[in-house]
Amino acid sequence: MIKLYNTLTRRKDKFEPLKEGLVSMYCCGPTVYNYAHIGNLRTYIFEDILKRTLEQAYQVRHVMNITDVGHLVSDNDDGQDKMEVGAAREGKSAWDIAKFYEESFFKDFDSLNCKRPTITARATQHIKEMINLVKTLEEKGYTYKTSDGIYFDTSKFKNYHNLVGKSHIEGLKSGARVEFNSEKRNPSDFALWKFSPTNEKRQMEWPSPWGVGFPGWHIECSSMAMKYLGQTLDIHCGGIDHIAVHHTNEIAQSEAATGKQYVRNWIHGEFLVLPAGKMSKSSGGFLTISTLKEKGYDPLDYRYLCLGAHYRTQLEFSWEALDFARASLKSLKQKIADLKNQEQLSVEENALKEAKNIFFENMADDLNTSKALAFVWEFLKTKNTPATKLELVKYADTMLGLNLLKTEEAKELPPEAKALIEERQLARKNKDFKKSDEIRAKLEQMGILIKDTPQGPKWSFK
Ligand code: AMP
Ligand code: ZN
Repeated sequence: MIKLYNTLTRRKDKFEPLKEGLVSMYCCGPTVYNYAHIGNLRTYIFEDILKRTLEQAYQVRHVMNITDVGHLVSDNDDGQDKMEVGAAREGKSAWDIAKFYEESFFKDFDSLNCKRPTITARATQHIKEMINLVKTLEEKGYTYKTSDGIYFDTSKFKNYHNLVGKSHIEGLKSGARVEFNSEKRNPSDFALWKFSPTNEKRQMEWPSPWGVGFPGWHIECSSMAMKYLGQTLDIHCGGIDHIAVHHTNEIAQSEAATGKQYVRNWIHGEFLVLPAGKMSKSSGGFLTISTLKEKGYDPLDYRYLCLGAHYRTQLEFSWEALDFARASLKSLKQKIADLKNQEQLSVEENALKEAKNIFFENMADDLNTSKALAFVWEFLKTKNTPATKLELVKYADTMLGLNLLKTEEAKELPPEAKALIEERQLARKNKDFKKSDEIRAKLEQMGILIKDTPQGPKWSFK
């Protein structure tokens, strides 16, 4: 049984998909106007862990969008489109910017061992679906027109604040959003379709029944999610910053259009923060996977760092913490490499079954990755056979995604130890057991244990 914390119900719910054996999962994808920072990538790592855990029990249909138009610099439906900001910054077209940063996003995504979605959907390729959804909302009386676009009237949608919770509503009402766009009927109303400015031609624009323009960011996700996953999704994920505006608006417009529950489980990941505060693209300096690589880290060191914290707790980034993660991962892999080098012996089926159960229970308990990881460490210290331990590692890694079995060759033997082992083999061949025992003692003093097996001598570090 998998339990997941649902933002909507505010408790850990027992997870069950609507269709037996099949999970529909939508994750908000990157806005491709710049590199993803490692904060963004923490969210994709958490989503990947969720997917891998679900895959133990279900088939997962995972859809992720690429926001390549319509995400404005402000949540107030004004300000420039982030794509056009990127284009101006780099002197390229918005289309080239989108292509370049989508590719670089997937390079990072792959390097972190995140499994690719079943379907990746670009907003610019789903304009027709978005227009249709806005038309439905118009027919149902949820929209109104202002000088700059078609808006959703949030006062017409009951329970608009359900996702964010009552305690936040007052804060939201008095928030910055009120100051802008006096043509809005309610401060929380949002754009479904924005008109192109009359005095300039946008690089990305399309005709629509209301005029030339582009879709609002929220309608993009609803249209693509429902196109590929149906009107009711099992799971929708994203970072916590999306709860109050983006996901709240997705619910309003989707449920207003279909009359059905849009998402059954909302799962949100907490932020990665820098000691100085929030990490964001707009606030200037941000860390990317390339920065980490330039400093000599493997992207999986960062994945390990993320797995050490629960996805619903804030994680403060520091180089010391990353160093610690790197050292821990290295030492874990070293232990695994040493295990591979030992005589395997048989798999102890009962012990393995029990260990797999414990590991999975931790993962199934709202993705308690740090506890699951600690269990792997503990299991490696037990007296179980190397074969049993390696089987557990293999199983755990289908969910952790740390390439734990892709170890370098086991820690190199010092050349003098290699020579001693060869000399000992010769002594044994000549039945000089006294000498062979002397050499074994010498090796042990060097911290190397020798065991004779039918396949020849196997060594391990003490
Ligand atoms: P964006 O590309 O800005 O649309 O964001 C992509 C994903 O990253 C979204 O799910 C955000 O909620 C998430 N996100 C943004 N900043 C952070 C952060 N500092 N830590 C974790 N996730 C973040
Ligand atoms: Zn989204």
